[in-house]
Amino acid sequence: MTRIPVPFLSHGAPTLAVESTPETRAWTELARELPRPRAILVVSAHWDTEAPSVGSAARPKTIHDFQGFARELYQQRYPAPGAPHLAELAVGALADAAIPCAVDPERGLDHGAWVPLKWMYPEADIPVTQLSVQSHLGARHHYELGRALAPLRDDGVLVLASGGIVHNLREIQWQASEPVAWAREFNDWMAERVAAGAVDELLDYRERAPSAARSHPTDEHLEPFFVALGAGGLPARRLALGIQMGSLGMDSYVFG
Ligand code: ZN
Repeated sequence: MTRIPVPFLSHGAPTLAVESTPETRAWTELARELPRPRAILVVSAHWDTEAPSVGSAARPKTIHDFQGFARELYQQRYPAPGAPHLAELAVGALADAAIPCAVDPERGLDHGAWVPLKWMYPEADIPVTQLSVQSHLGARHHYELGRALAPLRDDGVLVLASGGIVHNLREIQWQASEPVAWAREFNDWMAERVAAGAVDELLDYRERAPSAARSHPTDEHLEPFFVALGAGGLPARRLALGIQMGSLGMDSYVFG
């Protein structure tokens, strides 16, 4: 079976669930290019736990984990089957790397998972589950998580990392037409380090990147990037999707 590349997608605002945009079209196109997976393991910024946890629900519910949006968004469902077998495989792969992982039989799919999946696999016929991030444990921990998950790629599993390459909701300007300078600098720094294969610099981004703390006041939206880097390895293909609302980075990468 072909080894499946590992995308990191900047998932943007929940409104992308119902709006066709350059990002959603890129997600649809990406899914057409990838080998069709047997199952999907989503690592989303929106499931943040003390220690790694994987969902094992047979029918994961669609979680509407956002507030103040149009009713249409709350009516969206992504009725894919769950992936209890994949949950077991993930626990085993992490155990091989001495990383304990809990199993959550109740966990559904948050919008970091189902918004891109709706565009990638609209038939919702591929079993899917999620693995949590640990926002307090930083880049290297997530890189190690990714490395531990890498063997699943040979089993027909798509590891799909979903977060944001530049993400500071307090700085969002809904009407801005141009990216602000600090967001562009950070975005460019990430792209240049990926292109240069500078894994150690990427892992130390909080110390090394310009405007790192402003681009990520909290770490959780970038941590899936490091899972994808670990699971897929370099080189990576950049999907240069720009910056919305002044500072919401939409760049995505396909590793491996
Ligand atoms: Zn998000």
